[in-house]
Amino acid sequence: MLSEFDLIKRYFHRQYPSDPRFALGNGDDCALIAPTKGTQLAISSDMLVSGRHFFADADPAMLGHKCLAVNLSDLAAMGAKPLGFTLAIALPEADESWLAPFSEGMLRLADQYQCRLIGGDTTKGPLTISITIFGEIPPTTAMRRDAAKVDDDIWISGTLGDARLALAAYWNELALSDSAHLAAARRMHMPAPRIELGMALRGIAHAALDISDGLVGDLNHILTSSQVGASLDVDTLPAGPILTQQTQEIQRQFCLAGGDDYELCFTAPPELREAVLEAGRRSQTPVTRVGKILASRGLQIFDRAGNPLDLRPSSFDHFTSA
Ligand code: ADP
Ligand code: MG
Repeated sequence: MLSEFDLIKRYFHRQYPSDPRFALGNGDDCALIAPTKGTQLAISSDMLVSGRHFFADADPAMLGHKCLAVNLSDLAAMGAKPLGFTLAIALPEADESWLAPFSEGMLRLADQYQCRLIGGDTTKGPLTISITIFGEIPPTTAMRRDAAKVDDDIWISGTLGDARLALAAYWNELALSDSAHLAAARRMHMPAPRIELGMALRGIAHAALDISDGLVGDLNHILTSSQVGASLDVDTLPAGPILTQQTQEIQRQFCLAGGDDYELCFTAPPELREAVLEAGRRSQTPVTRVGKILASRGLQIFDRAGNPLDLRPSSFDHFTSA
């Protein structure tokens, strides 16, 4: 039977090349990090609970990817560069056939973004994974939710709604072919954090966030914090490649209130449109302009012909949703 310390050593302890920013990594009471001189530390935590955020039998490699990806996505939404993360994990048992792929899925993504695992905590209990991530960012460049300005364009990275489509198929709300279901499930389980785009938007975008609970609900956080309103062109929303096979109504609904998209929604002044497109090209991330920030409060949604739509998509809330 694997002991707690063997488990940590085998799956959550890494040797990294020396770097002055990481004076001390995993193995002591604390890790010691010094972000690059003159930068601010960006810090975020996300917790994933079995049965709430993922199915108990979820593929461990994909789960390892996802629990780090959602944290990286928060750094991306501020424009921060990843530094390191800690992993607090409760495990029902020390099952190596689960731990090996979980740690590999997580650390592969971590290495891709040079984000070091610098510590954590391990305990027995119902499967729960909590990551705290640290990034660095030059002062005054962070894309804050309270920074949207009237007349800004609203932009979305990548595409929306495929993750929600996978969920709809799991819940038997609609039927998908096996291949479509598989492709949609991949979008749900393997989100791509938009780190490169977030960094490329420094000094260009005003406000940003990552869409985790559905576009409308999340955009509302920007509107409330920035004390502005907005209009959205529903038919310009970039539906995911699998979602585009569905009816217009489903496409609209899932783009507006999907959840689990982990795309960036950001605002930028109209005179910087070309700079935004260039940031998209540089980071190899598609970006689409989908609306405007307005002085009058509230969110208005229009169709292609300019008619207002009375859609009231609600976003996901852990305490008020089922
Ligand atoms: P403490 O007794 O100080 O809480 P622990 O015994 O929990 O320390 O952990 C020993 C070392 O292993 C610490 O440096 C801690 O950061 C690290 N560690 C524990 N669990 C994890 C984990 N899941 N991932 C990475 N590092 C971990
Ligand atoms: Mg401990």
